[in-house]
Amino acid sequence: MNYYIHHRDDVLSTNKAQELTEKLELRGHTCTQDNPEIIITIGGDGTMLHAIHNYVDILDKVKFVGIHTGTLGFFTDYTSEELDMFVDDFDGDYHIFSHALIESRCYGADDQLRHQVYALNESRVENIIQTQTMKVSINDEYLEEFRGNGLCVSGQIGSTAYNRSIGGAIIDDTLQALQLTEISGIHHRHYRSLNSPLVLNPKAHITFESDSFEGAMLIYDHLNINLHQTKKIDIFFSSKHVNFIRFNDNSYYMRLRSLF
Ligand code: NAP
Ligand code: MN
Repeated sequence: MNYYIHHRDDVLSTNKAQELTEKLELRGHTCTQDNPEIIITIGGDGTMLHAIHNYVDILDKVKFVGIHTGTLGFFTDYTSEELDMFVDDFDGDYHIFSHALIESRCYGADDQLRHQVYALNESRVENIIQTQTMKVSINDEYLEEFRGNGLCVSGQIGSTAYNRSIGGAIIDDTLQALQLTEISGIHHRHYRSLNSPLVLNPKAHITFESDSFEGAMLIYDHLNINLHQTKKIDIFFSSKHVNFIRFNDNSYYMRLRSLF
């Protein structure tokens, strides 16, 4: 098989990438940057996110599998101590797990589409400079006027990432859902919003509208764009998918245990 290794820049990950290349070459696999079928990441879950964004325009042509240089992650199925097991499994059968990305479309005045971006973990509007006020609608139906630092939209996969730090629920890997979670919402006598994390049907469309997103960013996974000329943001599950290869079946709860 043609593969390519995307590794974190630390010494351990770099050495493991070299070691793995040698082992896979002995089995007749070719490491190539031109049209690889499989992207192997070595590092952490963050490394996998970076790799996916590198290939975001050709996600239908590549599949991903991760090796973690720490403990097991959510996107990584092997630790760097298990290279030999990985090399044996690499010749065997595998399952493909496909996950929809979260799409965010930002519109300016006169409804002109300004940005269209994709995230695996989450897409969030966050303003750390001034109180962000925004109207929130679900499937074009008004829900609330939010005030605070921002709102985070995550999927099942991202439920253990930023969403978890702001009090969102962890969603197990047999469920698909979109989750809307507040980031430092203001709740007192004058202003109130839902406050609780809201778990939605995966077909839901979430819309944020404001006269001013001055100072706010749209942060999607590790990337960001400035929202200063944005008036409206639509967030929903995209038709764009990322495909993960699974050779083994580490349970979700085993991954969850190694998270904390
Ligand atoms: P990063 O350092 O690559 O990632 C931050 C941490 O989040 C790392 O420990 C990473 O695990 C972990 N992580 C990533 N995806 C995860 C998932 N689906 N489930 C559980 N843990 C996960 O930072 P970055 O380059 O900015 O990466 C962006 C991601 O980091 C964002 O999508 C966001 O979810 C997360 N993040 C979290 C916080 C927070 O919790 N307060 C703040 C900023 C960003 P590894 O160590 O295995 O790489
Ligand atoms: Mn990172």
